[in-house]
Amino acid sequence: MLKPGITYMHEHTTIDLSEVKNNEDCQLDVFSETVREYKKLYEKGVRNIVDVTNFGMGRNIPFVQKVAEESGINIIHATGFYQETFYPIQVFRESREELAERMINDITVGIKGTDVKAEIIGEIGTSHNKWTETERKVFEAVVIAHKETNKPITTHTTLGTLGHEQVAFFKENGVDLSRVIIGHVDLAGDADYIIHMLKEGAYVEFDTIGKENYMPDQVRADILKKIQELGLIDQVLVSMDITRKSHLEYQGGLGYAYLLDTFIPLLERSGITDESIDKVLVKNPITFMKG
Ligand SMILES: [Zn+2]
Repeated sequence: MLKPGITYMHEHTTIDLSEVKNNEDCQLDVFSETVREYKKLYEKGVRNIVDVTNFGMGRNIPFVQKVAEESGINIIHATGFYQETFYPIQVFRESREELAERMINDITVGIKGTDVKAEIIGEIGTSHNKWTETERKVFEAVVIAHKETNKPITTHTTLGTLGHEQVAFFKENGVDLSRVIIGHVDLAGDADYIIHMLKEGAYVEFDTIGKENYMPDQVRADILKKIQELGLIDQVLVSMDITRKSHLEYQGGLGYAYLLDTFIPLLERSGITDESIDKVLVKNPITFMKG
């Protein structure tokens, strides 16, 4: 359940992809530095962070709940299986029904022996321009878990690819697209590509804000302007997807406040109205999570 206020829809308070990526920077679990930044967000009106870390990605529920407690920010937890490169071994061994059961357990009983329950399914992903057999099994398992629990779904597209295929998959499998977020679409950098998914009824997420080495923020702003003109801004969500120690302020990174301090002023200069900004930061997350 979200609290009234701003929501970052796609973050990882802790994440550990360091072994697969062979890069220690990809183990993000720095307690006091994260609390410091989350407190700063709280002062700016942020009340919720949706943490989409799931099986095999370094979930640490007591750590995250302690960050929530100390910062005052409500942190929503997730369940699911990320993307083939990072799957734990059971994803290959088990049936889709067994994988669905694991997610349902996280949602109805609690995650990793805690009584903290997952409130969203994701991030579940496809590879770069490729949807592997096991990734398809995960998506099928997610459909089962979604239909059983009615929890919303949030996806990962690798560099924005296969968004249309994900939308088509959910449609074919009878999932109401107003319960689905297609993630990382800003990395596609293509307005028409994104607008197609919006017209189909899905939510889309501009959740790599500030990662200008992948996509300039001005491109994100210009696409949002087009979406606003078409009256589709109600289906857009935002976040930064901070996943590395070097993304935080203490290591000279942009830090979480960048979205509010730098990106929002850029949107204002680019013709995005205050009403639209309020929608992407505050209203749309609440509508989406309510279902
Ligand atoms: Zn992510």
